[in-house]
Parts: sequence; structure tokens; C-alpha cells
Amino acid sequence: MSHTVEILSVGTELLLGNIANTDAQMLSQGLSELGLNVFWHTVVGDNPQRAREAVALAKSRADIIITTGGLGPTCDDLTKNVLAEAFGKKLVFDEGSAQRIRSYFQRTGRPMTDNNLQQAMLPEGCTILENDWGTAPGCAFRAEGVHVIMLPGPPSECRPMFHYRAKPYLLSLSEGVIASHTIKLFGIGESSMEAQLREQMNAMTNPTLAPYAKEGECELRVTAKAATDEEAQTLLQPTVEQVKALFGDKVYGVDVPSLEYVVLHALTEKGLTLGTAESCTGGLIAKRLTDIPGASAAFKGGIVSYTNQVKAGVLGVPQDMLDQFGAVSKEVAAAMAEGARRVLGCDVALSSTGVAGPDKDDRGNEVGTMFVAISTPQGTHVRALHLGNRPMRERLRTQTASHAFDLARRYLSGLDYGK
Ligand code: ATP
Ligand code: MG
Repeated sequence: MSHTVEILSVGTELLLGNIANTDAQMLSQGLSELGLNVFWHTVVGDNPQRAREAVALAKSRADIIITTGGLGPTCDDLTKNVLAEAFGKKLVFDEGSAQRIRSYFQRTGRPMTDNNLQQAMLPEGCTILENDWGTAPGCAFRAEGVHVIMLPGPPSECRPMFHYRAKPYLLSLSEGVIASHTIKLFGIGESSMEAQLREQMNAMTNPTLAPYAKEGECELRVTAKAATDEEAQTLLQPTVEQVKALFGDKVYGVDVPSLEYVVLHALTEKGLTLGTAESCTGGLIAKRLTDIPGASAAFKGGIVSYTNQVKAGVLGVPQDMLDQFGAVSKEVAAAMAEGARRVLGCDVALSSTGVAGPDKDDRGNEVGTMFVAISTPQGTHVRALHLGNRPMRERLRTQTASHAFDLARRYLSGLDYGK
């Protein structure tokens, strides 16, 4: 199966920039997980003529068209009309959908106006995608060699409708199963990862390899299609091994949710405890650990030592060290981690100190100058980071926390600390 998909989002508010096209983003992610090739995103306003033109173009080049928005009861909701017309289908009243719409209004206690029943007008012969999250049903049909799937616009409806309604429909188009594994990497940029894999990725058809970058981390999703899950796994394994060998200790896990999860899991397995002393990350390391249920098995606690007073008074960082090197220094990062280990009585401690911006610190350290440290029974190690002078405070903090987790996972799996 080699389907080409066009996502056609309908809504003037998208063109005006009032809202971002998050539906298309969500769909693209989900569709590529299914091994489907999304080749085009199109956005068109609530204008019948331009919508007709957009549909004609989509129909000429894609064999799956997924629309979002414009299924509601108001007159600007034109998606079904335009799609039905483009494929020579009539809209017919579906009593089952009308019932569901009536009972939705009864359930939510809202008055129903007649135009709501407009939503029960659906292309003849279509598969109805029942909407348990709102009123407008979605629908799917095949005509002229093209599959058309229409989904509602509100993201709170579009997401579950894709997941629970469109996905099973798409899976039924192909025989066999689709299986995938996600290889997670830290400490390598997406472009360098892609450069190393480009030729291989282009040459692969089954399994396929798709890279994703998020929050300073990279993922590679390997997807295979086969008659049975067992066969799919047999196809996947060699590629997973190959990617692991290629990127070595930059790979922190396969099918794992996050770096912090890997750290917590390794700590729990080894019966070790962790504590934190955070300055520039302001508790984010602790937050990310405690987001995971069961964190208390290994995480003892953390100190947000934002001021020098707390660094010295609570963690015992020597005042003359703070005076001499400044709070943003490798010496202080090390002393913070050692202090946390002592004060919290834990086996391993992580610390962070740096300049999250938007301004340089009073010693002239650039934004993005960060130090993370780990203190263990075997000693203390500091990693100096220069995360670039970008004014994205949130991102700098997230990446700094991830580097701290990277030190921990490297320690716990007996790897060197890397850079
Ligand atoms: P409704 O029954 O609510 O009218 P609909 O299917 O007709 O649903 P629209 O009227 O096009 O959908 O959009 C409803 C709301 O959903 C929009 O105001 C917007 O907030 C959101 N929305 C629509 N399209 C998108 C999109 N592509 N991405 C994100 N949000 C969207
Ligand atoms: Mg609408």
C-alpha cells in the first residue's frame, strides 16, 4: 500500500491566523504513524468556490483526502456539500445520525434548533463516523478511486474522531498489520541524525524510518507492515538494531516515554534514591520526575535554590566559592549537587545552574550558559552547556533539565558522561 494523503482544512479563521492548524498537525503525526504519506496540507476559507477548487486539486493528486472543519450546522459549514458535489454524490438525511444529535442535546440539556439536523445530511452511501464528542458526525466514502474522510473542526472532537473512527477505517483499507517502534535519542540534533540516515531512509519502503524532533530530543519511528504482527516484528528488528548501533549511547531507549522515565526506572531497579538542587530550572527536574506515577520509589525530594542565600544556607555551597566563581559556574554546580546529596540523604543528586534569559547575568554570562552536575558515591561530574543565545526561556530550561537526566541515565547504565 502506498497511499498519498492530502489534509484539507476548511475555515476562514485558520487563514486569518486566529487559530493555528493544530488538527492538521495532529493528523499528520497520526497518519505517518500508520505509514501513510502525507504530501499536502491545504487550508481554504469558508468560501464555496475556493473550496471547490481546493477539492478538485486534492482529488487530482491524492488518493486519500481528509478534511477538517465545516461540518457544523451553520451556513459557513460547507465541507460536506462541496465534497459530495465534487464526487457527484447527493446528500441524504440519515435518521440514525439525527437521533444521535437529538439525544446529544437532551443529554447536555441544551436547546436544539432545526438547523442542527442539517448535520444529519450525509453523502449517500457513506460510512458514518459517529461523533461521541460533539454533534456533527464525520463520514467516509470512496469514489473515483479516492477515499474521502471528513472530520469535525474542534480539536476536542477531531482528535478522538481520528483516533477512534478514522484510524480503524484507514487500517481496514490495508490488509495485515502495521507495527512500529520508537527509538529515542538524546544529544544529537535532528539534522545531523537525518544526514546520517538520509540515504537509508530514502531507500527503505518496508519498514520505513521517520525522524521527529521535539524539545531538544530526537525520535526515530520505524514502521513495518506485514500480514501478522510476528512478521512485522521480524521486519522491524534488524532496523532497530542497526539504528541503535549507528547512534550508540545517544540512544536512551526504545518505546520508552521519556528520559526521566528511563532514569526513574533504572533507579528503582537498582534500589537507589535521587534528589535535586535546582537553580535555573526552578524545580522542573523534580516536576518531570514527579509527573511519573510511582516516583516516590526513588525520588526523595528537591531544593529550589534560586538565590545564593539558599545555595549557601541550605545546600552549604561555600560563600567564597559563590563570590569567586559566581552562581553560574561549574564549581557551584558541583557543590550544589554534593550539597543536595548530603542534605537530602540520597544516593544520587542532580543540580542545575545557568542563565535562562532573556538577559545576561550580572557577571556577563551569555543566555544559554548552563551547568548541570551529578553527584554519586563515585564522585561528581559537571557538564557545561552552551545552549545558544535564543530568547526562549522555557526551552532552555527544558533542555537543561534533559541534560541533567542524561547525566543520570548515563551514570545508571555505566556509560561515560559524554559531552
Ligand atoms: P462545529 O460543529 O463546532 O461548527 P465544525 O466541524 O463545523 O464544528 P468549524 O466550524 O470549522 O468546525 O470549527 C469549529 C471550531 O473548531 C473553530 O472555531 C476552531 O476553534 C476549531 N477548529 C476548526 N478547524 C481547526 C483546525 N484545523 N485546527 C484547530 N482548530 C480548529
Ligand atoms: Mg462550524
